Amino acid sequence: MKLNILNLVTDEKCYGYLRSVRWEDGVYCPSCQKIDVVKNGLSSHNEFIHRYECKSCGTGFNDLSGTIFSQSNKPLKVWIIALYFLGLNLSNRQIAQELLDFCIRF
Ligand SMILES: [Zn+2]
Repeated sequence: MKLNILNLVTDEKCYGYLRSVRWEDGVYCPSCQKIDVVKNGLSSHNEFIHRYECKSCGTGFNDLSGTIFSQSNKPLKVWIIALYFLGLNLSNRQIAQELLDFCIRF
């Protein structure tokens, strides 16, 4: 059995990590930058994505809104691991080999 790092990383942990980085100083509205926001449940598409509503401007947003990950159809963990590999200076070919098997399945 081939060891694949994508099988060792969970979406739950990746979304938790993203929240800890993005909302390090607290959740704020990406539209008006105000911190007067309330939690608004979880995404209907992904149970690990938290939704929020801005009480100042009424904008609804989630953990991915306004990020480079928001329009992707790949799981967040693929991007997190790819960014990790880039930080290790792996070549594009090495990164592709690590991620290819997993990406084909999704
Ligand atoms: Zn707002």
